[in-house]
Amino acid sequence: MLTDTWPLFWPFSWLSLPLLAGLLGLIIGSFLNVVIHRLPLMMERHWAKECAEYAEPNAEPVAEPVFNLSQPRSRCPHCGHPIAWHENVPVFSYLFLRGKCSACGVGISARYPLVELVTAALFYFCVARWGGTATALVWCGFSAALVSLAMIDWDTTLLPDDITLPLAWSGLIVAALQWNPGVSLSDAVWGAVGGYLSLWTVYWAFKLVTGKDGMGFGDFKLFAALGAWFGWTALVPIILMASVLGAVVGLGLKWSSTLREGGYVPFGPFLAIAGLTALFFGPQAILRWVGLAI
Ligand SMILES: [Zn+2]
Repeated sequence: MLTDTWPLFWPFSWLSLPLLAGLLGLIIGSFLNVVIHRLPLMMERHWAKECAEYAEPNAEPVAEPVFNLSQPRSRCPHCGHPIAWHENVPVFSYLFLRGKCSACGVGISARYPLVELVTAALFYFCVARWGGTATALVWCGFSAALVSLAMIDWDTTLLPDDITLPLAWSGLIVAALQWNPGVSLSDAVWGAVGGYLSLWTVYWAFKLVTGKDGMGFGDFKLFAALGAWFGWTALVPIILMASVLGAVVGLGLKWSSTLREGGYVPFGPFLAIAGLTALFFGPQAILRWVGLAI
Protein backbone atom coordinates (compact mmCIF):
# COMPACT_ATOMS: atom_id res chain seq x y z
CA MET A 1 0.00 0.00 0.00
CA LEU A 2 1.13 3.52 -0.83
CA THR A 3 0.22 4.76 2.65
CA ASP A 4 3.04 2.72 4.23
CA THR A 5 5.64 5.03 2.71
CA TRP A 6 3.56 8.23 2.79
CA PRO A 7 4.29 11.12 3.43
CA LEU A 8 7.38 10.86 1.33
CA PHE A 9 9.72 13.70 2.26
CA TRP A 10 9.84 17.10 3.87
CA PRO A 11 8.53 19.65 1.31
CA PHE A 12 5.39 17.57 0.81
CA SER A 13 4.96 16.20 4.31
CA TRP A 14 1.84 18.37 4.81
CA LEU A 15 0.26 16.76 1.76
CA SER A 16 -1.51 13.64 2.96
CA LEU A 17 -2.69 11.03 0.46
CA PRO A 18 -6.41 11.90 0.94
CA LEU A 19 -5.63 15.60 0.35
CA LEU A 20 -3.77 14.71 -2.82
CA ALA A 21 -6.80 12.66 -3.90
CA GLY A 22 -9.01 15.69 -3.13
CA LEU A 23 -6.86 17.89 -5.40
CA LEU A 24 -7.12 15.27 -8.13
CA GLY A 25 -10.89 15.27 -7.49
CA LEU A 26 -10.99 19.03 -8.26
CA ILE A 27 -9.36 18.40 -11.64
CA ILE A 28 -11.59 15.41 -12.42
CA GLY A 29 -14.61 17.51 -11.30
CA SER A 30 -13.59 20.18 -13.82
CA PHE A 31 -13.54 17.49 -16.54
CA LEU A 32 -16.95 16.21 -15.34
CA ASN A 33 -18.36 19.72 -15.94
CA VAL A 34 -17.31 19.33 -19.58
CA VAL A 35 -18.83 15.82 -19.77
CA ILE A 36 -22.10 17.03 -18.17
CA HIS A 37 -22.40 19.85 -20.67
CA ARG A 38 -21.15 18.19 -23.85
CA LEU A 39 -22.09 14.49 -23.72
CA PRO A 40 -25.87 15.12 -24.14
CA LEU A 41 -25.11 17.53 -27.03
CA MET A 42 -22.87 14.90 -28.64
CA MET A 43 -25.69 12.33 -28.29
CA GLU A 44 -28.23 14.72 -29.87
CA ARG A 45 -25.87 15.41 -32.80
CA HIS A 46 -25.37 11.69 -33.29
CA TRP A 47 -29.13 11.02 -33.31
CA ALA A 48 -29.77 13.92 -35.71
CA LYS A 49 -27.11 12.53 -38.05
CA GLU A 50 -28.58 9.01 -37.91
CA CYS A 51 -32.08 10.35 -38.59
CA ALA A 52 -30.81 12.38 -41.56
CA GLU A 53 -28.99 9.33 -42.98
CA TYR A 54 -32.13 7.21 -42.55
CA ALA A 55 -34.35 9.81 -44.22
CA GLU A 56 -31.97 10.40 -47.13
CA PRO A 57 -29.52 7.48 -47.45
CA ASN A 58 -28.00 8.81 -50.69
CA ALA A 59 -27.44 12.42 -49.57
CA GLU A 60 -23.86 13.74 -49.46
CA PRO A 61 -22.66 13.80 -45.83
CA VAL A 62 -22.47 17.38 -44.54
CA ALA A 63 -19.08 18.30 -43.02
CA GLU A 64 -19.69 19.49 -39.48
CA PRO A 65 -17.22 21.18 -37.11
CA VAL A 66 -15.58 18.76 -34.67
CA PHE A 67 -17.44 18.58 -31.36
CA ASN A 68 -16.26 16.18 -28.67
CA LEU A 69 -15.05 16.26 -25.05
CA SER A 70 -11.75 17.96 -25.95
CA GLN A 71 -12.70 20.12 -28.95
CA PRO A 72 -13.57 22.95 -29.47
CA ARG A 73 -12.03 24.91 -26.58
CA SER A 74 -14.37 26.04 -23.81
CA ARG A 75 -15.91 29.48 -24.34
CA CYS A 76 -18.13 31.83 -22.38
CA PRO A 77 -21.70 30.87 -23.40
CA HIS A 78 -22.71 34.56 -23.46
CA CYS A 79 -19.94 36.37 -25.36
CA GLY A 80 -17.87 33.52 -26.86
CA HIS A 81 -14.69 34.65 -25.07
CA PRO A 82 -12.25 31.67 -25.19
CA ILE A 83 -11.46 30.53 -21.64
CA ALA A 84 -7.71 30.77 -20.96
CA TRP A 85 -5.95 28.12 -18.87
CA HIS A 86 -5.64 30.47 -15.87
CA GLU A 87 -9.42 31.07 -16.01
CA ASN A 88 -9.99 27.33 -15.96
CA VAL A 89 -8.28 26.31 -12.70
CA PRO A 90 -10.91 24.41 -10.65
CA VAL A 91 -12.67 26.52 -7.95
CA PHE A 92 -9.77 29.03 -7.66
CA SER A 93 -10.49 30.70 -11.01
CA TYR A 94 -14.16 31.01 -10.06
CA LEU A 95 -13.20 32.77 -6.81
CA PHE A 96 -10.54 34.91 -8.53
CA LEU A 97 -12.99 35.99 -11.28
CA ARG A 98 -15.64 36.54 -8.54
CA GLY A 99 -18.00 34.27 -10.49
CA LYS A 100 -18.04 36.49 -13.62
CA CYS A 101 -16.72 36.14 -17.19
CA SER A 102 -13.54 38.25 -17.53
CA ALA A 103 -14.68 39.60 -20.91
CA CYS A 104 -18.42 40.34 -20.62
CA GLY A 105 -18.96 40.26 -16.84
CA VAL A 106 -21.97 37.91 -17.06
CA GLY A 107 -22.22 35.57 -14.04
CA ILE A 108 -20.75 32.03 -14.24
CA SER A 109 -23.01 29.38 -12.70
CA ALA A 110 -21.96 28.35 -9.16
CA ARG A 111 -22.66 24.80 -10.33
CA TYR A 112 -19.19 24.52 -11.89
CA PRO A 113 -17.20 24.99 -8.65
CA LEU A 114 -19.85 22.98 -6.76
CA VAL A 115 -19.40 19.93 -9.02
CA GLU A 116 -15.63 20.28 -8.55
CA LEU A 117 -15.92 20.53 -4.76
CA VAL A 118 -18.33 17.59 -4.47
CA THR A 119 -16.02 15.42 -6.61
CA ALA A 120 -13.03 16.50 -4.49
CA ALA A 121 -14.90 15.63 -1.27
CA LEU A 122 -15.87 12.19 -2.62
CA PHE A 123 -12.29 11.42 -3.71
CA TYR A 124 -10.96 12.62 -0.34
CA PHE A 125 -13.42 10.35 1.47
CA CYS A 126 -12.61 7.26 -0.65
CA VAL A 127 -8.86 7.58 -0.07
CA ALA A 128 -9.24 8.54 3.62
CA ARG A 129 -11.23 5.35 4.09
CA TRP A 130 -9.39 2.84 1.91
CA GLY A 131 -5.92 4.39 1.67
CA GLY A 132 -3.81 4.07 -1.45
CA THR A 133 -5.53 0.89 -2.63
CA ALA A 134 -7.27 -0.33 -5.76
CA THR A 135 -10.51 -0.27 -3.73
CA ALA A 136 -10.17 3.50 -3.16
CA LEU A 137 -9.37 4.06 -6.83
CA VAL A 138 -12.39 2.17 -8.14
CA TRP A 139 -14.77 3.90 -5.70
CA CYS A 140 -13.37 7.25 -6.89
CA GLY A 141 -14.32 6.23 -10.44
CA PHE A 142 -17.76 5.11 -9.23
CA SER A 143 -18.30 8.50 -7.52
CA ALA A 144 -17.26 10.48 -10.62
CA ALA A 145 -19.68 8.45 -12.78
CA LEU A 146 -22.58 9.07 -10.37
CA VAL A 147 -21.91 12.83 -10.17
CA SER A 148 -22.02 13.14 -13.96
CA LEU A 149 -25.08 10.89 -14.35
CA ALA A 150 -27.02 12.82 -11.67
CA MET A 151 -26.34 16.19 -13.30
CA ILE A 152 -26.95 15.02 -16.89
CA ASP A 153 -30.27 13.38 -15.94
CA TRP A 154 -31.37 16.47 -13.99
CA ASP A 155 -30.58 18.73 -16.98
CA THR A 156 -31.78 16.59 -19.87
CA THR A 157 -33.68 13.54 -18.42
CA LEU A 158 -31.08 11.35 -20.19
CA LEU A 159 -28.84 8.72 -18.60
CA PRO A 160 -26.22 8.03 -21.29
CA ASP A 161 -25.40 4.37 -22.01
CA ASP A 162 -21.81 5.57 -22.40
CA ILE A 163 -21.70 5.93 -18.60
CA THR A 164 -24.35 3.55 -17.19
CA LEU A 165 -23.16 0.44 -19.08
CA PRO A 166 -19.42 0.74 -18.26
CA LEU A 167 -20.47 1.50 -14.67
CA ALA A 168 -22.47 -1.76 -14.49
CA TRP A 169 -19.72 -3.84 -16.11
CA SER A 170 -17.01 -2.33 -13.93
CA GLY A 171 -19.06 -3.19 -10.81
CA LEU A 172 -19.02 -6.85 -11.88
CA ILE A 173 -15.32 -6.77 -12.75
CA VAL A 174 -14.41 -5.11 -9.44
CA ALA A 175 -16.32 -7.85 -7.60
CA ALA A 176 -14.58 -10.55 -9.66
CA LEU A 177 -11.18 -9.05 -8.79
CA GLN A 178 -12.24 -8.97 -5.10
CA TRP A 179 -11.45 -5.26 -4.87
CA ASN A 180 -14.82 -4.59 -3.24
CA PRO A 181 -14.77 -5.91 0.34
CA GLY A 182 -18.01 -7.63 1.34
CA VAL A 183 -19.42 -8.01 -2.20
CA SER A 184 -18.79 -11.36 -3.88
CA LEU A 185 -19.13 -11.87 -7.63
CA SER A 186 -22.37 -13.74 -7.08
CA ASP A 187 -23.77 -10.85 -4.94
CA ALA A 188 -22.80 -8.43 -7.69
CA VAL A 189 -24.33 -10.47 -10.54
CA TRP A 190 -27.63 -10.93 -8.71
CA GLY A 191 -27.52 -7.25 -7.74
CA ALA A 192 -27.27 -6.24 -11.40
CA VAL A 193 -29.98 -8.70 -12.52
CA GLY A 194 -32.31 -7.74 -9.66
CA GLY A 195 -31.73 -4.04 -10.16
CA TYR A 196 -32.58 -4.17 -13.85
CA LEU A 197 -35.55 -6.55 -13.62
CA SER A 198 -37.21 -4.86 -10.65
CA LEU A 199 -37.49 -1.44 -12.34
CA TRP A 200 -38.28 -3.08 -15.69
CA THR A 201 -41.25 -4.82 -14.00
CA VAL A 202 -42.41 -1.57 -12.35
CA TYR A 203 -42.11 0.19 -15.72
CA TRP A 204 -44.30 -2.33 -17.56
CA ALA A 205 -46.84 -2.60 -14.73
CA PHE A 206 -47.18 1.20 -14.68
CA LYS A 207 -47.44 1.33 -18.48
CA LEU A 208 -50.11 -1.38 -18.62
CA VAL A 209 -52.22 0.32 -15.96
CA THR A 210 -51.82 3.99 -16.96
CA GLY A 211 -50.61 3.82 -20.58
CA LYS A 212 -47.73 6.17 -19.68
CA ASP A 213 -43.96 5.82 -19.33
CA GLY A 214 -43.15 6.09 -15.61
CA MET A 215 -39.39 6.13 -16.06
CA GLY A 216 -36.69 5.64 -18.67
CA PHE A 217 -34.60 2.61 -19.57
CA GLY A 218 -31.55 4.47 -18.26
CA ASP A 219 -32.99 4.14 -14.75
CA PHE A 220 -33.00 0.31 -15.05
CA LYS A 221 -29.36 0.35 -16.16
CA LEU A 222 -28.28 2.72 -13.40
CA PHE A 223 -30.08 0.62 -10.75
CA ALA A 224 -28.47 -2.51 -12.22
CA ALA A 225 -25.07 -0.78 -11.92
CA LEU A 226 -25.73 0.08 -8.26
CA GLY A 227 -26.72 -3.55 -7.68
CA ALA A 228 -23.41 -4.66 -9.23
CA TRP A 229 -21.40 -2.33 -6.99
CA PHE A 230 -23.21 -2.94 -3.69
CA GLY A 231 -24.64 -6.45 -4.17
CA TRP A 232 -28.28 -7.53 -4.22
CA THR A 233 -28.82 -6.89 -0.50
CA ALA A 234 -28.43 -3.14 -1.11
CA LEU A 235 -31.22 -2.90 -3.71
CA VAL A 236 -34.08 -2.40 -1.24
CA PRO A 237 -32.39 0.34 0.86
CA ILE A 238 -31.23 2.19 -2.29
CA ILE A 239 -34.61 2.13 -4.06
CA LEU A 240 -36.34 3.10 -0.80
CA MET A 241 -34.15 6.16 -0.30
CA ALA A 242 -34.29 7.20 -3.97
CA SER A 243 -38.11 6.92 -4.05
CA VAL A 244 -38.62 8.90 -0.83
CA LEU A 245 -36.18 11.63 -1.95
CA GLY A 246 -37.73 11.75 -5.44
CA ALA A 247 -41.25 12.03 -4.01
CA VAL A 248 -40.24 14.79 -1.55
CA VAL A 249 -38.39 16.82 -4.22
CA GLY A 250 -41.18 16.20 -6.78
CA LEU A 251 -43.83 17.47 -4.33
CA GLY A 252 -41.58 20.42 -3.43
CA LEU A 253 -41.22 21.36 -7.11
CA LYS A 254 -44.97 21.00 -7.64
CA TRP A 255 -45.75 23.08 -4.59
CA SER A 256 -43.36 25.83 -5.67
CA SER A 257 -44.66 25.58 -9.29
CA THR A 258 -41.16 24.97 -10.64
CA LEU A 259 -41.98 21.56 -12.12
CA ARG A 260 -40.72 21.33 -15.69
CA GLU A 261 -43.01 20.92 -18.69
CA GLY A 262 -44.86 17.60 -18.64
CA GLY A 263 -44.53 17.37 -14.84
CA TYR A 264 -41.58 15.01 -15.22
CA VAL A 265 -39.05 14.56 -12.41
CA PRO A 266 -35.97 12.54 -13.45
CA PHE A 267 -35.30 9.57 -11.15
CA GLY A 268 -31.57 9.20 -11.90
CA PRO A 269 -30.34 11.99 -9.57
CA PHE A 270 -32.10 10.33 -6.61
CA LEU A 271 -30.70 6.90 -7.46
CA ALA A 272 -27.27 8.54 -7.64
CA ILE A 273 -27.69 10.30 -4.26
CA ALA A 274 -28.86 7.01 -2.71
CA GLY A 275 -25.82 5.28 -4.24
CA LEU A 276 -23.43 7.85 -2.79
CA THR A 277 -25.20 7.62 0.60
CA ALA A 278 -24.72 3.85 0.50
CA LEU A 279 -21.03 4.46 -0.23
CA PHE A 280 -20.64 6.86 2.71
CA PHE A 281 -22.72 5.11 5.36
CA GLY A 282 -23.28 1.57 4.03
CA PRO A 283 -26.59 0.46 2.47
CA GLN A 284 -27.86 -1.03 5.73
CA ALA A 285 -27.62 2.38 7.48
CA ILE A 286 -30.45 3.60 5.21
CA LEU A 287 -32.69 0.81 6.53
CA ARG A 288 -31.73 1.67 10.13
CA TRP A 289 -32.75 5.34 9.58
CA VAL A 290 -36.27 4.28 8.63
CA GLY A 291 -36.47 1.68 11.41
CA LEU A 292 -36.43 -1.36 9.10
CA ALA A 293 -33.19 -2.82 10.52
CA ILE A 294 -31.30 -2.78 13.76
ZN1 LIG B 1 -18.40 36.30 -21.46
